Amino acid sequence: MAAYDPENIFAKILKGEIPSHKLYEDGDTFAFLDIMPRTEGHALVITKEPAADLFGITPEGLGKLMAVVQTLAPKIEKAVGADGVLIQQFNGAAAGQTVFHLHVHIVPIKKGVPVKPHAGDMADPDDLKATAEKIRAVLAA
Ligand code: AMP
Repeated sequence: MAAYDPENIFAKILKGEIPSHKLYEDGDTFAFLDIMPRTEGHALVITKEPAADLFGITPEGLGKLMAVVQTLAPKIEKAVGADGVLIQQFNGAAAGQTVFHLHVHIVPIKKGVPVKPHAGDMADPDDLKATAEKIRAVLAA
């Protein structure tokens, strides 16, 4: 199990020290757009409980996280007009994890549209803003 660094970038987002394109928040979780999206609408759901990865969270915390993923994913899919949703979660650098604060990726997939590499290019902030607005509109409906 990886050690948890309270100064990791997602902890800073939770504390409001770094901006994010917020989509959703409750007492246990926070969701926002990935700044290096693999597809339009690529979102991350993170726990408020400090945990570096899947193995550092309580079963109850994990249940709450996945319940939010289950709720948000079809709404994000609808908001961006996708045909399916890839759910990803990486544990350890060897497995591709780059931020050591537990999070689940929601990656909407459109038939025939290539999925970009994991943690690749930064998106245009205006595009992220527009996507976040589309998703928030569906979440609010
Ligand atoms: P992982 O490799 O599963 O740890 O994924 C970390 C993800 O966080 C990557 O997809 C990055 O693009 C994303 N990311 C890194 N920094 C930020 C940030 N400040 N805001 C939003 N997403 C970020």
